[in-house]
Amino acid sequence: MGRIEEMVERKLRVGVDIDGVLRDWTSALLAMAKRHFPEKVLTDVVDTWRIKNIDLPYEELKHYFSDQYVEEVYRDALAYPNAVQDLKWLMETFPNVEFVCVSHQWGLTIPNTLLWLGKHGCTFSEIHFTYDKFLVDVDYLIDDSPNNYDSWVKNRGDDTTFILYHQLYNRHVNATNRIHRLRDVVGTISFTQTSKYRSENKIWRQQLKGKQHEGAKTEPLV
Ligand SMILES: [Mg+2]
Repeated sequence: MGRIEEMVERKLRVGVDIDGVLRDWTSALLAMAKRHFPEKVLTDVVDTWRIKNIDLPYEELKHYFSDQYVEEVYRDALAYPNAVQDLKWLMETFPNVEFVCVSHQWGLTIPNTLLWLGKHGCTFSEIHFTYDKFLVDVDYLIDDSPNNYDSWVKNRGDDTTFILYHQLYNRHVNATNRIHRLRDVVGTISFTQTSKYRSENKIWRQQLKGKQHEGAKTEPLV
């Protein structure tokens, strides 16, 4: 990065997760489970991060949702009501803000997720598929995962730049910012500011050198 580039103000950058924010992953998972192993579905409510309502070892369930029946879950899932409309509205209303897709996908979930984004008209010009979301060059992150929340706070210092998207499985998290639909970020983030993360990021990356960063406690699902 050149010196002149550093002096130019950058647009504010807001990361947007997919599963649990745009895509109704849990409903698609439940539907898949009911089709293929209904006797294992204990309740219709996914209220724990590790999906305790489906009576299967997690690794076995993961094989079903991210490999064997991956299309039923990742390609065919519905969007949450208003989620895609809210995203489009945010992108159109705030052209001074860069909305960046930040999502943890792997293996076959990647092409199926790209198909899903295209099918639903999510026009992100920048997409990051990564486990460690706090490393991505964004000022804010909109995400539903309690593990990502913990990881963000540990590695970025506090939770003021994390926007927790409300779900049953994160209701125990005492977040500063919690939203129930995407357009509600308008009341949480000031969209008139410019990006501050680049300079902070440089300092923070230097601090990371030579020591292991603290990743999420357990592997986030989505
Ligand atoms: Mg998520």
